[in-house]
Amino acid sequence: MLTSEIIAIGSELLTPFHTDTNSLWLTEKLNSVGIDVKLKTIVGDDEARLEEVLKDALQRSQVIISTGGLGPTEDDITRKVFSRVLKRPLILHEDILANIRHLFESRGFPMALNNERQALILQNAQVLNNPRGTAPGMFIIDSDKRIVMLPGPPREMKPMFEEQVLPNLQKLSHGLRVKRKVLKVSGMGESAVDALIAPIYSKYKNPTTTILFNRTEVQIHLTASGSTDKEVERLLEELSNKLEEKLGANVFSVQGESLEEIVGRWLAVKQFTIATAESCTGGLIATRLTDIAGSSRYFLQGLVTYSSQAKIDLLGVSADLIEEKGVVSAEVAEAMAIGVKKKSGATFGVSVTGLAGPDGGTPEKPVGLVYIGLASDVEVTHKKLQLPGDRERVRWLASTVALDLVRRRYLL
Ligand code: ATP
Repeated sequence: MLTSEIIAIGSELLTPFHTDTNSLWLTEKLNSVGIDVKLKTIVGDDEARLEEVLKDALQRSQVIISTGGLGPTEDDITRKVFSRVLKRPLILHEDILANIRHLFESRGFPMALNNERQALILQNAQVLNNPRGTAPGMFIIDSDKRIVMLPGPPREMKPMFEEQVLPNLQKLSHGLRVKRKVLKVSGMGESAVDALIAPIYSKYKNPTTTILFNRTEVQIHLTASGSTDKEVERLLEELSNKLEEKLGANVFSVQGESLEEIVGRWLAVKQFTIATAESCTGGLIATRLTDIAGSSRYFLQGLVTYSSQAKIDLLGVSADLIEEKGVVSAEVAEAMAIGVKKKSGATFGVSVTGLAGPDGGTPEKPVGLVYIGLASDVEVTHKKLQLPGDRERVRWLASTVALDLVRRRYLL
């Protein structure tokens, strides 16, 4: 596999206010054509530091991609430093200068003298046009190295890379194709998933398998490489089918969809509707459901009934029941689900009541104790959970279990 590295340039990327998202996107693209990313560096607008990083990169990587620092101002140092390290002088390209001037005039501004800098191109570099901005990029072949300079703004960088750089790099990796497939699993922990499927995936070198925990779900990432798309897809299919068979209904998505998308799709197809009554999740289930475009087809309403009184007034939960069983109880969860189903007329009423913490726990009812209720026309059920983690984690896990409870309805 060819090796590459990414250099993100810009002092703002070293502050807590800006994240280097370019390199995440670039990594995915490079991997897709069989190029491994071995290193990412973030370097501020500091000539000496950038010089060091670039010199080191030239020692160790075949493909070097930089983003940022191609602007018109004095602190945009990429052009200057790359010119010095690669020993290629900067040459003014009259046609690029004319383009930049034209761009400014078409927007009704005179071009500042500074912008002339952006028409300076390293000797023998291929110019990468930037239709969405003023800074052109550069592609340089230097013996067996490929060096790419791209502007920082993602909306400029991404199409330039995809259209003008990726096809070149793909040829270089002899058409090696790499694809990923992600299986998402609910209702099981990371180690339980691994214990179940390790005997299967460990027999395969290609695809490789990685198991990750992502906020509330376990993800199984399969990465396969081969010389054609068809071959890669066949390799992925084979292993993925075996894993799905083993994990059964715990796999909820094989094409990248979120749990709320899967639930929403099923509700829409069946022409079912849903309403939520939430306490400790504070509207998170409703938020997740309505994050999906088109959710108005099935989501009727979401109530945040935080206080006991709200559960009584808005959902018709009996005060005596709350008094007798406690507000965090299976009976109240079920009564909330019945209440919101009745008030909204939805096919399903979903409820949550629990203790997200950090305070308020007792030995009988500790923090993390959550009851989910689900009411349909045929039955009312609940699920008791003792969730680990802080407030944020308890809320997210509870919302996931609630959505998963609805999903598992259609498996019955
Ligand atoms: P321009 O001509 O637009 O100034 P440039 O190449 O000089 O292009 P920078 O000035 O370095 O780009 O960055 C411009 C903006 O692009 C930054 O403020 C930031 O919002 C975004 N940006 C830069 N680098 C990255 C990165 N690695 N990831 C995400 N966004 C980035």
